[in-house]
Amino acid sequence: MTTAPSFTETRFDEVTVLAPAGGGAFPRGNTVVVHGSEATLVLDPSLDVDHDPVGADAVMISHAHEDHIAGLRHFDTAKYAHHDEVGGVRSLQVLLDGYGLTPDERAAVDAQIGDTFALPPGFPEAEGVGDGHVFDLGDLTATVVHLPGHTRGHCGVLVEPTGFFYIADIDLTSFGPMYGDVGSSVDDYLASLARVREVDARWYGTFHQKGVVEGAKDFRERLTAYEGVIHRREERLLAFLDRPRPLDEIVEYRLVYRPHVQMPFVNAVERRTAGLHLERLIRHGQVARSDDGSFHRR
Ligand SMILES: [Zn+2]
Repeated sequence: MTTAPSFTETRFDEVTVLAPAGGGAFPRGNTVVVHGSEATLVLDPSLDVDHDPVGADAVMISHAHEDHIAGLRHFDTAKYAHHDEVGGVRSLQVLLDGYGLTPDERAAVDAQIGDTFALPPGFPEAEGVGDGHVFDLGDLTATVVHLPGHTRGHCGVLVEPTGFFYIADIDLTSFGPMYGDVGSSVDDYLASLARVREVDARWYGTFHQKGVVEGAKDFRERLTAYEGVIHRREERLLAFLDRPRPLDEIVEYRLVYRPHVQMPFVNAVERRTAGLHLERLIRHGQVARSDDGSFHRR
């Protein structure tokens, strides 16, 4: 097969991972190709995919974020995403809605997406699939595993009998899990981490930096560290609520990004992340909300 020279191509039996030469940090990422005897499935064609390198029979999108659909326009074939996610693949405006931005933030993010990704207005032909959907590729199956939390319809794909489990933006980075969208959920994210932990695979593939982790033991250790970031954010928030704080002050304190990071979506992500942790802590009886709208530890 021919691919753009900007990739490192690594084979895991019937699965090929196309890793950008410069690494898979945002806006780049690793594209996965599954070669069955009867059909070829591509997962998340990234920014560096500038043509269909394999004559794909289908493309599955893990979730409607611009970096995961960046190369999709080069594929003239069936396109799929989870039912809860396919709207954002069909329409870039729906994708943007998912970020829950103010009009100014939205204009800035829209411009940034335009500059970096040059996405078309959408892929209206994309079809929705559910948890457990099986792509029959002949000698292989690729099964959709719904892993919500990052977004509502975020999915992994388990390739069998190869034993390759693509887990997309459960990306095992030291930065930690991202759950700053309108459809994000901390509880769903934790449940998804528990679900992937149960899967015995030979390889676990992520979209961003880490790439592929070999063996369940190493994977579970990395998963524990990754999940730990969620708990550390919550502990930091609890410690900060030693006196009443309005939401704006918590947003400024920053649970996710470091203080110097300036990007148009940072505030929205911080606001949403703080809101989700506050909701959780209130539900667990650890935080209370005062009449003036501020939050404090109980
Ligand atoms: Zn994402």
